[in-house]
Amino acid sequence: MPVGKRDVHRYLIEMNEITKIATPDSPPQRLRKPDWIRVKAPMGAEFEKTRALMREHKLNTVCEEAACPNIGECWTKKHATVMILGDVCTRACAFCNVKTGMPMAVDALEPQHTADAAAKLGLEHIVVTSVDRDDLADGGASQFVKVIEALRRTTPKTTIEILTPDFRNKTEAAVEAIVAARPDVYNHNLETVPRLYPTIRPGARYYASLRLLEQVKRLDPSIFTKSGVMLGLSEQRLEVHQVMDDMRSAGVDFLTMGQYLQPTTKHVKVSEFVTPQAFDAYASVARAKGFLLVASSPLTRSSYHAGDDFAKMRQAREEKLARSGASNARP
Ligand code: SF4
Repeated sequence: MPVGKRDVHRYLIEMNEITKIATPDSPPQRLRKPDWIRVKAPMGAEFEKTRALMREHKLNTVCEEAACPNIGECWTKKHATVMILGDVCTRACAFCNVKTGMPMAVDALEPQHTADAAAKLGLEHIVVTSVDRDDLADGGASQFVKVIEALRRTTPKTTIEILTPDFRNKTEAAVEAIVAARPDVYNHNLETVPRLYPTIRPGARYYASLRLLEQVKRLDPSIFTKSGVMLGLSEQRLEVHQVMDDMRSAGVDFLTMGQYLQPTTKHVKVSEFVTPQAFDAYASVARAKGFLLVASSPLTRSSYHAGDDFAKMRQAREEKLARSGASNARP
């Protein structure tokens, strides 16, 4: 059959479409946020009280620095994630809104300020994270230890969750020191699939992060381990399943999955808004793979509902132990 002008025209349009997707010189336009991502503007008396307390104690929070979409909800409930070791990071990950540069000296009063703020807020559970401090000999591990110790002294009933960097080139010693201080939950995020590390998390190594999680579990199996990934960065479904398998091999108890949101136009673009249904489907797969707990939704973040999730995780472990005890007791 002879090829007509129309066929050629259609072919060119199709090729153009394909080229548009494949050529890095023509990146996709910024996608419009779907309705399920929209959140209320932060405001209200309780929100302001949380903010005032953070300022009073000179504390940074990842809620503000990372431009977290949940800040209105969390701060109204007095949930804030304290970011220690300053507000300047030594890395420049393509997804993160925290400032990059030469950080300031470590604040010796920060551990006690964190503990005092937790006591004033009456927190049952606190999440403490930090910027990357590749400039420090221990990567900042000793500051995490001091914060845990100050919290135990000042507000002993508060359960402690830490979300640490990878402590590049000093991981083993750093993790040993922190595990010895016995936080209740040790979180370290893998963030994305290994294929995207060179562009999304260029300063980090996927397998080094996995080994960190595995080391925590090996040193103290009673500490809950937690890790998370962002979706919408062009990862493929099977790659996400592989990350789940890798986490399970490292003994990770709790998986969080949330939608990546581009904080500014300088950051990497969102490649896709993953639907709430797809998040549910990922959660089902993750549960089948044996995680003790899975949180998966567009607005899920590492520390979102962390207190409630800690209680659920503890209960899930008790139920699991009871079941295995019961089955071991069988003749
Ligand atoms: S989800 Fe975490 S980082 Fe975001 S506002 Fe809540 S506590 Fe802060």
